[in-house]
Amino acid sequence: MSTESLKELLVEELKDIYDAEKQLVKALPKMAKASFDEELKAGFNTHFEETKEHVARLERVFKLLDEPAKGKTCPAMKGLIEESSEVLEAKEASSVRDAQIIGAAQRIEHYEMAAYGTVRTLAETLGEDEVAEILQTTLDEEGETDKRLTAAAATVNEAALTE
Ligand code: FE
Ligand code: FE
Repeated sequence: MSTESLKELLVEELKDIYDAEKQLVKALPKMAKASFDEELKAGFNTHFEETKEHVARLERVFKLLDEPAKGKTCPAMKGLIEESSEVLEAKEASSVRDAQIIGAAQRIEHYEMAAYGTVRTLAETLGEDEVAEILQTTLDEEGETDKRLTAAAATVNEAALTE
């Protein structure tokens, strides 16, 4: 990462999360399809729709910063998605597998929360208030998704006990 200024750092971080979100647009339908629990499946479908909006928001952010909307491969997200697909391939659909999928999904949401927190604060520091606000909106949705996954885990784990 060759960054000499804070603005450059912000743009680099945005490229990373832009790529990460695009990877998720591809991965979330697979997670939805693999979910055994109907509510979990619906949750992944909802977050799939939100994630497409996250991509669109980042494009707005790049525009506001007068930068081309360009991603840069995010190896961390690649790894997290790889872990989730290993789960999907290794087992038949079950509540236990759902519990494992939730674990992988929550790791993904936490990665996103960390990334959005960082860029939100960078934007605030740079006086890019509109950008900061847009990023905060996405950060809030990632947080909500994480909470929904925690709630889903309670149901799924309970079901797994009697499987
Ligand atoms: Fe997202
Ligand atoms: Fe997310």
